[in-house]
Amino acid sequence: MIVLAIDIGGTKLAAALIDSSLRIVARREIPTPASQTPDALENALRVLVTPLYSEAQYIAIASTGIIQDGVLTSINPANLGGLSHFPLVQYLSALTGLPGVALNDAQAAALAEYQQAPSRIRDMVFITVSTGVGGGVIQDGKLVTGSGGLTGHCGHTLADPHGPRCGCGRIGCVEAIASGRGIAAAAQDELSGLDAKAIFAHAAQGQTQAVALVQRSARTLARLIADLKALTDCQRVVVGGSIGLAEGYLSQVQHYLAQEPAVYQVELYSAHHRSDAGLLGAALWAQGSRQ
Ligand SMILES: [Zn+2]
Repeated sequence: MIVLAIDIGGTKLAAALIDSSLRIVARREIPTPASQTPDALENALRVLVTPLYSEAQYIAIASTGIIQDGVLTSINPANLGGLSHFPLVQYLSALTGLPGVALNDAQAAALAEYQQAPSRIRDMVFITVSTGVGGGVIQDGKLVTGSGGLTGHCGHTLADPHGPRCGCGRIGCVEAIASGRGIAAAAQDELSGLDAKAIFAHAAQGQTQAVALVQRSARTLARLIADLKALTDCQRVVVGGSIGLAEGYLSQVQHYLAQEPAVYQVELYSAHHRSDAGLLGAALWAQGSRQ
């Protein structure tokens, strides 16, 4: 079976044809439309998939946001704002004439990362730390998505009741502190207005405030990992995303996690996949759905 996998992110839309041995045989990418309206997304998806879909037998979509029964809902309106209740699977099936499935992009990435883990690992959590913070939970070898698609949205668990308001509406979510957007929002004085990438560059030079901002993110993530260990009894946590994979970040997370009691310790790994985890995980999910 050739799967047309589609990854819908806040900055780019990617599509690939993926064969049954998970080889990417064709790939395309376009920017996410600036105007995040249903019409703009429909047009962009049409442009993206039209050259590809005649080769495919099935569609698999990974998207930012909450996916329930093939419908996309934004949990943080700052990511894909304006798209509430967009019928992803229905629209793409009507466009291509193909059946399909959809899931959250971090859930998909969890599935792709789990494929890389040795067979002794039955319980695993994937966390992506990027513009936002997302995750996916593998329990007893299977991805858990939840009846409402919300399982694994660990970026929206509480990190600090006195922290900043998160895009989802809660106060003090992990995402509001540890994410790239959270790091940038907390920057003051000479770092004010810089993005997370620039702040990491300053931290690498030893700039005191930048170092503290990165440490605050890593410490918040370590506490989240301890919480996830308690909730899921995971044997391994895999960390990805542009912040999660930034040089030196995971070792800082490890440093803070090591300060927690022994029962919260869990092995930490950097994500194996870079930009294609969502596409590959969606294809894996489709293969599982078709069995
Ligand atoms: Zn939140």
